[in-house]
Amino acid sequence: MFSRHASRQLAALVDAELASHAAQRVERHVATCERCRAEQDQVRFSMSMLDHLPIAPAPDTIWTSIEAALNEHRPYRSAPTRRWRLALATLAVAAVGATYWAVTHRLETQWELVQIHGKPAVRIAAGKWIETDSSSTATVKVGDLGSVEVSTNTRLRIVAAQPRQHRLALARGEIHAKISAPPRLFFVDTPSGTAVDLGCEYSLQSDEDGRGLLQVTRGWVSFQANGLESLVPAGASCRTRPHATPGVPYFDDAPENLKQALANSDIKLDIILTEARVRDTLTLWHLLPRVGLADRARIYDRIAALAPVPAGVSRQKVLDLDPNTLTLWKDELAWKW
Ligand SMILES: [Zn+2]
Repeated sequence: MFSRHASRQLAALVDAELASHAAQRVERHVATCERCRAEQDQVRFSMSMLDHLPIAPAPDTIWTSIEAALNEHRPYRSAPTRRWRLALATLAVAAVGATYWAVTHRLETQWELVQIHGKPAVRIAAGKWIETDSSSTATVKVGDLGSVEVSTNTRLRIVAAQPRQHRLALARGEIHAKISAPPRLFFVDTPSGTAVDLGCEYSLQSDEDGRGLLQVTRGWVSFQANGLESLVPAGASCRTRPHATPGVPYFDDAPENLKQALANSDIKLDIILTEARVRDTLTLWHLLPRVGLADRARIYDRIAALAPVPAGVSRQKVLDLDPNTLTLWKDELAWKW
């Protein structure tokens, strides 16, 4: 799916050695890339193992054996190291498998509703509604996978609580979801589309007609409606509208004029093209399938002026909306988002 991976940055990320912007970028990639997630789990596991190795004073005899080893020839000396590395790698892979099994199987855990005002937790099953008024809020716990804070004046239904799918329907109001499950297991339906968790934390607000806002604070969320998808990374938002394609995502720190130009269904492309920064290629890339050919060419040129076009992406294929080309370009641009 991705042409570039974060392998080299994973150890630094796990060790909290990356600058915050670089860390965010790598985290966003890892959230949607299975290969890097698996690698990150291995790095984490190996590091925690090393952290827990006991430190003991070496006996004097060790120097004798080290000297002896240095005098031996190479193949004999490296063999134990290789065996140790292999054992460690095998253990790491087994641990990742076990973790994944545990994560997917514990999804059978029932939903749990916790009243904020110190009342005892109540278990709730699929099909049930949760409704808060102007003075009450609630927390829905999803086993160990995460939780959903339900704001005041919100109506929310548990649609499904199954091993491969946890689904809520937000009829109106606002929720704040914090999920640490593998991607695409947690869904929230709204009257205007569905939010699909890609490993993240986000707020979703909607009125009864489906007019609302999705704001992502960690990872990624995909918002899907009417055959189109908006990929919203941390620090970005997108509006939702009834009977329409999902709103075009924009960074919350984008120029005010750019955000205003996206506010209504008739998008002001001239302003967006003028105001866009490198990071706002997020907005520009999402506009490509939503405009006609002439405007698409202008958007292509603007993105190309902001960031080098990677090998494998041609102007013609972008204008034709070739899905592979668009994905390849998005994956490359996403390093700047
Ligand atoms: Zn990757």
